Amino acid sequence: MYDYLVVGAGLYGAVFANQAKAQGKSVLVIDKRPNIAGNVFTEKIEGINVHKYGAHIFHTNNKKVWNFVNRFAEFNRFTNSPVANYKGELFSLPFNMYTFNKMWGVVTPSEAQAKIEEQKKQAGITEPKNLEEQAISLVGTDIYEKLIKGYTMKQWGRPCDKLPSFIIKRLPVRLTFDNNYFNALYQGIPVGGYTKMVENMLEGIDVKLGVDYFDNKSEYDAMASKVVYTGAIDAYFDYRLGTLEYRSVRFENEILDIPNFQGNAAVNYTDSETPWTRIIEHKWFEFGKDEEGNDLPKTVISREYSAEWKPGDEPYYPVNDEKNGALYEQYKELAKKEDNIIFGGRLGEYKYYDMDAVIASALEMSEKELA
Ligand code: UDP
Repeated sequence: MYDYLVVGAGLYGAVFANQAKAQGKSVLVIDKRPNIAGNVFTEKIEGINVHKYGAHIFHTNNKKVWNFVNRFAEFNRFTNSPVANYKGELFSLPFNMYTFNKMWGVVTPSEAQAKIEEQKKQAGITEPKNLEEQAISLVGTDIYEKLIKGYTMKQWGRPCDKLPSFIIKRLPVRLTFDNNYFNALYQGIPVGGYTKMVENMLEGIDVKLGVDYFDNKSEYDAMASKVVYTGAIDAYFDYRLGTLEYRSVRFENEILDIPNFQGNAAVNYTDSETPWTRIIEHKWFEFGKDEEGNDLPKTVISREYSAEWKPGDEPYYPVNDEKNGALYEQYKELAKKEDNIIFGGRLGEYKYYDMDAVIASALEMSEKELA
Protein backbone atom coordinates (compact mmCIF):
# COMPACT_ATOMS: atom_id res chain seq x y z
CA MET A 1 0.00 0.00 0.00
CA TYR A 2 1.36 3.41 -1.07
CA ASP A 3 0.36 6.91 -0.04
CA TYR A 4 0.38 8.03 -3.69
CA LEU A 5 0.10 6.43 -7.07
CA VAL A 6 1.48 8.74 -9.74
CA VAL A 7 0.28 7.95 -13.25
CA GLY A 8 2.87 9.29 -15.68
CA ALA A 9 6.63 9.64 -15.19
CA GLY A 10 6.96 12.98 -17.00
CA LEU A 11 7.97 16.24 -15.34
CA TYR A 12 4.75 16.81 -13.41
CA GLY A 13 4.67 13.28 -12.04
CA ALA A 14 8.38 13.17 -11.24
CA VAL A 15 8.31 16.51 -9.41
CA PHE A 16 5.31 15.51 -7.34
CA ALA A 17 6.80 12.08 -6.55
CA ASN A 18 10.04 13.72 -5.50
CA GLN A 19 8.29 16.16 -3.18
CA ALA A 20 6.05 13.48 -1.68
CA LYS A 21 9.02 11.25 -0.94
CA ALA A 22 10.84 14.17 0.65
CA GLN A 23 7.87 14.48 3.01
CA GLY A 24 8.18 10.84 4.00
CA LYS A 25 5.34 9.60 1.80
CA SER A 26 5.49 6.36 -0.11
CA VAL A 27 4.99 6.69 -3.84
CA LEU A 28 4.57 4.39 -6.82
CA VAL A 29 5.05 5.93 -10.27
CA ILE A 30 3.74 4.09 -13.32
CA ASP A 31 4.04 4.91 -16.99
CA LYS A 32 2.82 3.15 -20.10
CA ARG A 33 6.00 3.97 -21.99
CA PRO A 34 9.11 1.83 -21.49
CA ASN A 35 10.98 4.91 -20.26
CA ILE A 36 10.69 7.70 -17.72
CA ALA A 37 10.74 11.45 -18.48
CA GLY A 38 7.60 11.73 -20.63
CA ASN A 39 8.14 14.06 -23.54
CA VAL A 40 11.43 15.41 -22.24
CA PHE A 41 12.92 11.93 -22.74
CA THR A 42 16.40 12.02 -24.24
CA GLU A 43 18.27 9.02 -25.59
CA LYS A 44 21.94 8.78 -26.43
CA ILE A 45 22.60 8.02 -30.11
CA GLU A 46 26.15 8.25 -31.50
CA GLY A 47 27.15 10.01 -28.27
CA ILE A 48 24.46 12.67 -28.78
CA ASN A 49 21.53 13.23 -26.41
CA VAL A 50 18.61 13.06 -28.82
CA HIS A 51 15.38 14.77 -27.72
CA LYS A 52 13.08 11.93 -28.75
CA TYR A 53 9.80 13.84 -28.33
CA GLY A 54 10.88 17.15 -29.73
CA ALA A 55 13.38 19.82 -28.79
CA HIS A 56 13.18 21.01 -25.20
CA ILE A 57 15.12 24.06 -24.14
CA PHE A 58 14.79 24.85 -20.50
CA HIS A 59 14.12 28.51 -19.78
CA THR A 60 12.52 30.28 -16.87
CA ASN A 61 12.16 33.50 -14.94
CA ASN A 62 11.12 31.58 -11.87
CA LYS A 63 14.06 31.44 -9.49
CA LYS A 64 12.42 28.82 -7.32
CA VAL A 65 11.98 26.51 -10.31
CA TRP A 66 15.53 27.22 -11.51
CA ASN A 67 16.97 26.38 -8.09
CA PHE A 68 14.82 23.28 -7.97
CA VAL A 69 15.95 21.83 -11.32
CA ASN A 70 19.58 22.64 -10.54
CA ARG A 71 19.40 20.18 -7.67
CA PHE A 72 18.96 17.38 -10.22
CA ALA A 73 21.13 18.49 -13.13
CA GLU A 74 23.87 20.87 -14.08
CA PHE A 75 22.73 23.18 -16.89
CA ASN A 76 24.94 24.22 -19.79
CA ARG A 77 24.99 27.71 -21.36
CA PHE A 78 22.89 26.84 -24.43
CA THR A 79 20.86 29.79 -25.72
CA ASN A 80 18.14 29.10 -28.24
CA SER A 81 18.59 31.07 -31.47
CA PRO A 82 16.66 29.32 -34.22
CA VAL A 83 17.16 30.24 -37.84
CA ALA A 84 14.21 30.59 -40.21
CA ASN A 85 14.62 29.21 -43.71
CA TYR A 86 12.10 30.72 -46.13
CA LYS A 87 12.69 29.18 -49.55
CA GLY A 88 16.44 29.23 -49.02
CA GLU A 89 16.56 32.74 -47.53
CA LEU A 90 17.76 32.71 -43.93
CA PHE A 91 16.43 34.98 -41.18
CA SER A 92 17.27 35.32 -37.50
CA LEU A 93 14.69 34.43 -34.90
CA PRO A 94 13.05 35.65 -32.80
CA PHE A 95 12.09 38.81 -34.65
CA ASN A 96 14.87 41.29 -33.95
CA MET A 97 17.11 43.84 -35.68
CA TYR A 98 18.96 41.10 -37.62
CA THR A 99 15.59 39.89 -38.96
CA PHE A 100 14.41 43.40 -39.84
CA ASN A 101 17.71 44.26 -41.49
CA LYS A 102 17.59 41.15 -43.66
CA MET A 103 13.93 41.67 -44.53
CA TRP A 104 13.93 45.41 -45.28
CA GLY A 105 17.52 46.60 -45.22
CA VAL A 106 16.70 48.86 -42.28
CA VAL A 107 19.64 49.71 -40.07
CA THR A 108 18.35 51.50 -36.99
CA PRO A 109 15.62 50.56 -34.49
CA SER A 110 13.58 53.62 -35.45
CA GLU A 111 13.67 52.64 -39.14
CA ALA A 112 12.49 49.13 -38.22
CA GLN A 113 9.76 50.53 -35.99
CA ALA A 114 8.59 52.85 -38.76
CA LYS A 115 8.42 49.97 -41.24
CA ILE A 116 6.32 47.85 -38.84
CA GLU A 117 4.00 50.80 -38.13
CA GLU A 118 3.57 51.50 -41.84
CA GLN A 119 2.62 47.88 -42.60
CA LYS A 120 0.35 47.67 -39.60
CA LYS A 121 -1.42 50.85 -40.67
CA GLN A 122 -1.88 49.57 -44.22
CA ALA A 123 -3.46 46.39 -42.86
CA GLY A 124 -5.87 48.57 -40.85
CA ILE A 125 -5.68 46.60 -37.62
CA THR A 126 -6.58 48.35 -34.41
CA GLU A 127 -7.60 45.55 -32.08
CA PRO A 128 -6.16 42.17 -33.14
CA LYS A 129 -8.77 39.45 -32.89
CA ASN A 130 -6.77 36.40 -33.94
CA LEU A 131 -3.21 35.19 -34.56
CA GLU A 132 -2.99 36.70 -38.04
CA GLU A 133 -4.01 40.18 -36.89
CA GLN A 134 -1.87 39.89 -33.79
CA ALA A 135 1.18 38.90 -35.84
CA ILE A 136 0.73 41.71 -38.35
CA SER A 137 0.33 44.28 -35.62
CA LEU A 138 3.50 43.03 -33.94
CA VAL A 139 5.84 42.71 -36.94
CA GLY A 140 4.04 43.80 -40.10
CA THR A 141 2.82 41.93 -43.19
CA ASP A 142 6.18 40.97 -44.76
CA ILE A 143 7.36 39.06 -41.73
CA TYR A 144 3.90 37.62 -41.25
CA GLU A 145 3.87 36.34 -44.85
CA LYS A 146 7.41 34.91 -44.87
CA LEU A 147 8.08 33.78 -41.33
CA ILE A 148 4.75 33.18 -39.61
CA LYS A 149 1.89 32.31 -41.95
CA GLY A 150 3.19 29.05 -43.46
CA TYR A 151 4.89 27.81 -40.31
CA THR A 152 1.87 28.39 -38.12
CA MET A 153 -0.48 26.84 -40.65
CA LYS A 154 1.73 23.73 -40.79
CA GLN A 155 2.14 23.54 -37.03
CA TRP A 156 -1.54 23.91 -36.16
CA GLY A 157 -3.24 22.67 -39.32
CA ARG A 158 -5.47 25.75 -39.24
CA PRO A 159 -5.19 29.15 -40.88
CA CYS A 160 -3.85 31.96 -38.71
CA ASP A 161 -7.18 33.79 -38.59
CA LYS A 162 -8.68 30.74 -36.88
CA LEU A 163 -6.08 30.62 -34.11
CA PRO A 164 -5.90 32.49 -30.79
CA SER A 165 -3.48 35.41 -30.68
CA PHE A 166 -1.74 34.28 -27.46
CA ILE A 167 0.22 31.62 -29.39
CA ILE A 168 2.24 34.25 -31.24
CA LYS A 169 2.77 36.31 -28.11
CA ARG A 170 5.09 33.54 -26.96
CA LEU A 171 7.68 34.97 -29.34
CA PRO A 172 9.61 38.10 -28.40
CA VAL A 173 9.83 41.03 -30.82
CA ARG A 174 12.91 43.15 -30.19
CA LEU A 175 14.39 46.28 -31.64
CA THR A 176 17.83 45.08 -30.55
CA PHE A 177 20.40 42.71 -32.02
CA ASP A 178 19.52 39.89 -29.66
CA ASN A 179 18.95 36.44 -31.16
CA ASN A 180 17.95 34.82 -27.87
CA TYR A 181 14.57 33.21 -28.56
CA PHE A 182 13.52 33.57 -24.95
CA ASN A 183 13.27 36.51 -22.60
CA ALA A 184 13.90 34.28 -19.61
CA LEU A 185 16.56 35.08 -17.04
CA TYR A 186 17.74 31.47 -16.86
CA GLN A 187 18.26 29.08 -19.75
CA GLY A 188 20.17 25.91 -20.60
CA ILE A 189 20.13 22.20 -21.31
CA PRO A 190 20.78 19.67 -18.56
CA VAL A 191 24.26 18.21 -18.99
CA GLY A 192 23.86 14.49 -19.65
CA GLY A 193 20.29 14.86 -20.91
CA TYR A 194 16.81 15.33 -19.46
CA THR A 195 16.34 11.63 -18.77
CA LYS A 196 19.19 11.74 -16.27
CA MET A 197 17.61 14.77 -14.58
CA VAL A 198 14.25 13.03 -14.20
CA GLU A 199 16.01 9.86 -13.03
CA ASN A 200 17.59 11.93 -10.28
CA MET A 201 14.18 13.33 -9.28
CA LEU A 202 12.85 9.78 -9.03
CA GLU A 203 15.76 8.42 -7.02
CA GLY A 204 14.61 5.98 -4.34
CA ILE A 205 11.04 5.93 -5.68
CA ASP A 206 9.31 2.81 -7.00
CA VAL A 207 8.75 3.12 -10.74
CA LYS A 208 6.97 0.62 -12.98
CA LEU A 209 7.31 1.15 -16.72
CA GLY A 210 5.43 -0.30 -19.66
CA VAL A 211 2.17 -0.60 -17.72
CA ASP A 212 -1.10 0.99 -18.73
CA TYR A 213 -3.12 2.38 -15.82
CA PHE A 214 -6.39 1.76 -17.64
CA ASP A 215 -5.64 -1.93 -18.17
CA ASN A 216 -5.96 -2.51 -14.41
CA LYS A 217 -7.33 0.74 -13.07
CA SER A 218 -9.17 -0.62 -10.02
CA GLU A 219 -6.17 -2.72 -9.01
CA TYR A 220 -3.85 0.28 -9.23
CA ASP A 221 -6.32 2.54 -7.43
CA ALA A 222 -6.47 0.01 -4.60
CA MET A 223 -2.68 0.23 -4.20
CA ALA A 224 -2.63 3.81 -2.97
CA SER A 225 -4.63 6.23 -0.84
CA LYS A 226 -4.53 8.87 -3.55
CA VAL A 227 -3.82 9.10 -7.28
CA VAL A 228 -1.97 11.85 -9.14
CA TYR A 229 -3.02 11.44 -12.76
CA THR A 230 -1.01 13.19 -15.46
CA GLY A 231 -2.53 11.55 -18.54
CA ALA A 232 -5.14 13.06 -20.81
CA ILE A 233 -8.20 14.16 -18.85
CA ASP A 234 -10.65 13.06 -21.56
CA ALA A 235 -9.05 9.60 -21.69
CA TYR A 236 -9.57 9.28 -17.93
CA PHE A 237 -13.31 9.70 -18.45
CA ASP A 238 -13.26 7.36 -21.44
CA TYR A 239 -13.99 10.30 -23.79
CA ARG A 240 -17.59 10.31 -22.58
CA LEU A 241 -18.15 13.99 -23.41
CA GLY A 242 -16.15 13.80 -26.65
CA THR A 243 -12.46 13.98 -27.49
CA LEU A 244 -10.30 17.00 -26.83
CA GLU A 245 -8.17 17.88 -29.85
CA TYR A 246 -4.40 17.88 -29.86
CA ARG A 247 -1.72 18.51 -32.39
CA SER A 248 0.59 15.61 -32.72
CA VAL A 249 4.15 15.61 -34.04
CA ARG A 250 5.98 12.94 -36.00
CA PHE A 251 9.76 12.80 -36.13
CA GLU A 252 11.94 11.37 -38.84
CA ASN A 253 15.35 10.81 -37.31
CA GLU A 254 18.48 10.38 -39.35
CA ILE A 255 22.07 9.65 -38.38
CA LEU A 256 24.43 11.37 -40.79
CA ASP A 257 28.06 10.52 -41.33
CA ILE A 258 29.09 14.18 -41.35
CA PRO A 259 29.96 16.40 -38.40
CA ASN A 260 27.74 19.36 -39.28
CA PHE A 261 24.45 19.39 -41.16
CA GLN A 262 22.96 22.84 -40.55
CA GLY A 263 25.24 24.59 -38.06
CA ASN A 264 22.46 25.24 -35.58
CA ALA A 265 20.21 23.27 -33.22
CA ALA A 266 16.99 24.47 -34.85
CA VAL A 267 16.13 25.58 -38.36
CA ASN A 268 12.47 26.42 -38.97
CA TYR A 269 11.11 25.96 -42.49
CA THR A 270 8.61 28.77 -42.63
CA ASP A 271 7.20 28.33 -46.16
CA SER A 272 4.00 26.34 -46.61
CA GLU A 273 5.36 23.87 -49.21
CA THR A 274 8.16 22.18 -47.24
CA PRO A 275 6.33 19.37 -45.45
CA TRP A 276 8.31 19.54 -42.20
CA THR A 277 8.09 22.48 -39.80
CA ARG A 278 11.66 22.34 -38.56
CA ILE A 279 14.85 20.33 -38.46
CA ILE A 280 16.61 19.80 -35.15
CA GLU A 281 20.30 18.93 -35.11
CA HIS A 282 20.65 17.61 -31.58
CA LYS A 283 24.40 17.84 -31.09
CA TRP A 284 24.30 21.65 -31.03
CA PHE A 285 22.33 21.61 -27.77
CA GLU A 286 25.65 20.50 -26.30
CA PHE A 287 27.96 22.45 -28.63
CA GLY A 288 28.79 19.39 -30.73
CA LYS A 289 30.88 17.85 -27.96
CA ASP A 290 30.73 14.66 -25.95
CA GLU A 291 31.01 14.67 -22.16
CA GLU A 292 34.82 14.74 -22.33
CA GLY A 293 34.71 17.79 -24.56
CA ASN A 294 35.66 15.97 -27.78
CA ASP A 295 34.08 16.89 -31.12
CA LEU A 296 31.52 14.33 -32.24
CA PRO A 297 32.18 12.90 -35.71
CA LYS A 298 28.57 12.20 -36.66
CA THR A 299 25.32 14.07 -36.31
CA VAL A 300 21.68 13.18 -35.64
CA ILE A 301 18.90 15.24 -37.17
CA SER A 302 15.12 15.11 -36.70
CA ARG A 303 12.67 16.41 -39.24
CA GLU A 304 9.52 17.45 -37.43
CA TYR A 305 6.12 16.98 -39.05
CA SER A 306 3.03 18.35 -37.43
CA ALA A 307 -0.14 16.29 -37.64
CA GLU A 308 -3.71 16.23 -36.44
CA TRP A 309 -4.02 13.93 -33.46
CA LYS A 310 -6.27 10.89 -33.49
CA PRO A 311 -6.79 8.35 -30.68
CA GLY A 312 -3.72 6.14 -30.48
CA ASP A 313 -1.28 8.92 -31.49
CA GLU A 314 0.92 10.79 -29.02
CA PRO A 315 -0.84 13.97 -27.94
CA TYR A 316 1.54 16.95 -27.93
CA TYR A 317 -0.04 20.37 -28.07
CA PRO A 318 -3.50 21.05 -26.65
CA VAL A 319 -5.53 23.04 -29.17
CA ASN A 320 -6.59 25.90 -26.96
CA ASP A 321 -9.46 27.26 -29.01
CA GLU A 322 -12.98 28.04 -27.80
CA LYS A 323 -14.50 24.68 -28.62
CA ASN A 324 -11.80 22.67 -26.86
CA GLY A 325 -11.66 25.13 -23.98
CA ALA A 326 -15.37 24.65 -23.35
CA LEU A 327 -15.08 20.87 -23.51
CA TYR A 328 -12.14 20.92 -21.13
CA GLU A 329 -14.20 22.96 -18.64
CA GLN A 330 -16.84 20.22 -18.72
CA TYR A 331 -14.25 17.55 -18.05
CA LYS A 332 -12.86 19.66 -15.24
CA GLU A 333 -16.30 19.64 -13.62
CA LEU A 334 -16.33 15.85 -13.81
CA ALA A 335 -12.83 15.74 -12.35
CA LYS A 336 -13.94 17.80 -9.35
CA LYS A 337 -16.48 15.12 -8.49
CA GLU A 338 -13.88 12.34 -8.39
CA ASP A 339 -12.53 11.35 -4.99
CA ASN A 340 -8.86 11.02 -4.11
CA ILE A 341 -7.46 12.01 -7.44
CA ILE A 342 -5.50 15.02 -8.63
CA PHE A 343 -5.26 15.89 -12.33
CA GLY A 344 -2.07 17.66 -13.31
CA GLY A 345 0.31 18.53 -16.12
CA ARG A 346 -0.04 19.35 -19.79
CA LEU A 347 -2.47 16.52 -20.51
CA GLY A 348 -4.25 16.43 -17.15
CA GLU A 349 -4.93 20.18 -17.30
CA TYR A 350 -5.10 20.45 -21.10
CA LYS A 351 -2.66 23.33 -21.09
CA TYR A 352 0.16 24.49 -23.43
CA TYR A 353 2.70 24.35 -20.61
CA ASP A 354 6.38 25.12 -20.91
CA MET A 355 8.61 22.93 -18.76
CA ASP A 356 9.16 25.54 -16.08
CA ALA A 357 5.43 26.20 -15.78
CA VAL A 358 4.62 22.54 -15.39
CA ILE A 359 7.27 22.24 -12.68
CA ALA A 360 5.93 25.35 -10.93
CA SER A 361 2.45 23.89 -11.08
CA ALA A 362 3.60 20.54 -9.65
CA LEU A 363 5.52 22.29 -6.87
CA GLU A 364 2.52 24.41 -5.98
CA MET A 365 0.20 21.45 -5.92
CA SER A 366 2.71 19.47 -3.83
CA GLU A 367 2.88 22.26 -1.27
CA LYS A 368 -0.89 22.29 -0.88
CA GLU A 369 -1.28 18.55 -0.95
CA LEU A 370 1.58 17.68 1.37
CA ALA A 371 1.12 20.53 3.88
N1 UDP B 1 6.10 30.74 -35.04
C1 UDP B 1 6.18 31.19 -36.34
N2 UDP B 1 7.34 31.07 -37.02
C2 UDP B 1 8.44 30.51 -36.48
C3 UDP B 1 8.37 30.06 -35.14
C4 UDP B 1 7.20 30.19 -34.45
O1 UDP B 1 5.20 31.68 -36.87
O2 UDP B 1 9.46 30.41 -37.17
C5 UDP B 1 4.83 30.89 -34.33
C6 UDP B 1 3.90 29.71 -34.57
O3 UDP B 1 2.59 30.20 -34.60
C7 UDP B 1 4.10 28.88 -33.32
C8 UDP B 1 4.29 29.94 -32.25
O4 UDP B 1 5.01 30.96 -32.93
O5 UDP B 1 2.98 28.07 -33.04
C9 UDP B 1 5.01 29.49 -31.03
O6 UDP B 1 6.25 28.97 -31.39
P1 UDP B 1 7.16 28.20 -30.35
O7 UDP B 1 8.48 28.06 -30.97
O8 UDP B 1 7.04 28.86 -29.03
O9 UDP B 1 6.45 26.79 -30.31
P2 UDP B 1 6.99 25.44 -29.66
O10 UDP B 1 8.46 25.57 -29.50
O11 UDP B 1 6.25 25.30 -28.37
O12 UDP B 1 6.61 24.44 -30.66
